[in-house]
Amino acid sequence: MTNTDALSPDALAELRRRYRLERERRVRPDGARQYLAAEARFGYYAEDPYAGGKSGREPLRDTVDVVVVGGGFGGILAGARLRQRGVGRIRIVEKGGDFGGTWYWNRYPGIHCDVESHVYLPMLDETGYVPEWKYAPGEEIRRHAVRIAEKSDLCADALFSTAVTSLTWDDTCGAWTVTTDRCDEFRATYVVTATGTLTELKLPGIPGIEEFEGHTFHTSRWDYAYTGGTPQGGLTRLADKRVGVVGTGATGIQVVPALAEDAGHLYVFQRTPSTVDVRGNRRTTARDVGADRDGWARERRDNFLGIVSGEHVDDDLVADRWTSSAGLLEKLLPSFRRHGDPTAFEAAYEAADAAKMNEIRARVEQVVTDPDTAELLKPWYRYACKRPTFSDLYLQAFNRDNVTLVDTADTQGIERMTARGVVVGDTEYALDCLIFATGFSVGNSGVHSGRLPVHGRDGVPLRDAWRERGPRTLHGFTTNGFPNLIQLGGVQGAASVNFTHVLDEHAVHAAALVAAAEDRGAVIEPSREAEDAWLAVLAEHAPDHEWFHAECTPGYYNGEGRGRPNGPNAYPHGAFAFHELLKAWRETSLDEVLTPGGRART
Ligand code: NDP
Repeated sequence: MTNTDALSPDALAELRRRYRLERERRVRPDGARQYLAAEARFGYYAEDPYAGGKSGREPLRDTVDVVVVGGGFGGILAGARLRQRGVGRIRIVEKGGDFGGTWYWNRYPGIHCDVESHVYLPMLDETGYVPEWKYAPGEEIRRHAVRIAEKSDLCADALFSTAVTSLTWDDTCGAWTVTTDRCDEFRATYVVTATGTLTELKLPGIPGIEEFEGHTFHTSRWDYAYTGGTPQGGLTRLADKRVGVVGTGATGIQVVPALAEDAGHLYVFQRTPSTVDVRGNRRTTARDVGADRDGWARERRDNFLGIVSGEHVDDDLVADRWTSSAGLLEKLLPSFRRHGDPTAFEAAYEAADAAKMNEIRARVEQVVTDPDTAELLKPWYRYACKRPTFSDLYLQAFNRDNVTLVDTADTQGIERMTARGVVVGDTEYALDCLIFATGFSVGNSGVHSGRLPVHGRDGVPLRDAWRERGPRTLHGFTTNGFPNLIQLGGVQGAASVNFTHVLDEHAVHAAALVAAAEDRGAVIEPSREAEDAWLAVLAEHAPDHEWFHAECTPGYYNGEGRGRPNGPNAYPHGAFAFHELLKAWRETSLDEVLTPGGRART
């Protein structure tokens, strides 16, 4: 089918039928329960392979101004923006052995950012750093995280290989007591949580997973001692190995070409193919990106965010497949924000979507030489049902003699594992090593899940405060009953594909709150009325795109095909508008969350 054919009513009807079919054959009754957490007998999957063991240190019993939970980009940016505001003692507490968060843990071969580095790497204006590639490798991004931390003087007070185990507000002292798994117990006037969203790795609950006698690990804990090599490749120890990889999401797409290069034989176990669009990575100069002007990075970042948030933007500075496909993300906006006539919207939109997906499927046919393999690699769902991916190496890897695609859609994933390998249908695939590129459990980190217990005024647990009616916040950051607690990057704000930009705006906001509280000798805490008003804003224009997700193949975007949690938990107008709203609020209304005299609201 050509792109133009996709516009005919018959072709669209046929596509809808096919999409429904592909969804139905994949929805599993166990939904998200099909996955295993890396804990208890699977806990070793989550151990830190990069830190070289925990170094001994004495437990801390001191007092700091701000504790920041999490040393990924969210935590580092919070620290940097607080430092710019003149805050004194800032202590970042991080589970990993260094700064970096996602980019600390994920060091698999082939790792790159799939968003342009000049908009993804934060604080380029402030650090003077200009990335050399349009899409930076993971190690460069990790090093940039460390660069910001060093420039912001965040290293001396940071605690690594340390997990916060509880946060408890003490109303008498007007401070938080923080405990950790290293027996620390110290105080902080303010707490900023930056615990990330995709941090808890998950494993497929394949029957017999423990029987396998070969080697296994998850992509976010790469075992270079076993494979040899570095994130740049050279996995020489795999030369005589039969290697399997489970998962073909954004991670699988990047790791497969690197494994294909070096493995004796590579088996790719696929359940749902990704959309794999053109990447076009290339070296860039400072001139290419206009880095000779003050504020160039901020301008470029705003431009990108505007485009992917559905704003009217004249110039497209990044000009890649994210921005050229951004119109197709409009279905995720509330209907009144979409461009053009709302009644005509869906028909025109569906046709554009079909044309794009036909282009993606046509690319598979052009690149992959074996027609049967090509057929299996074609994604049959609408654009953005899953995170779009980009690669000029992935599809090409299937033209190699040492790579075999094993489709597992008919059995809804790998059926079982044996001592020797993996069983799909009638075939047992004998393997030396099986690598899980199976992603992360969403919303299972930090304070929302209760994994990190938070007790506010009168010892009330945050989980209890939110149990009946769900999360209650002002702008996603602050909650009544939990003074001086600021949550970054969580619910009731607005996300974007360029998440570091979102985190930076949140960090600026958090720093402004702390600076204002310090100025006025006040406590930060919203009233119940302010929370109600914010919930009303979220509810009034709650996005009406659940119909879209309901028709998608399963994945973490749509609760594994079973629907997403209820409640208006995101600002409906997109990240660009959210940041504008925060800025205006800081200028006019910030005092509404400050209680002078250092006493919390009762
Ligand atoms: P995903 O959750 O996106 O993908 C997991 C993969 O594992 C899917 O292909 C899934 O198939 C497959 N899978 C799970 N269980 C089984 C099973 N039993 N049998 C066979 N296959 C199975 O995880 P990723 O790590 O790929 O990506 C997670 C997120 O991380 C991305 O969405 C993105 O937000 C982020 N990321 C960002 C990158 C960047 O450059 N910015 C790079 C990499 C990741 P199915 O689809 O059928 O469920």
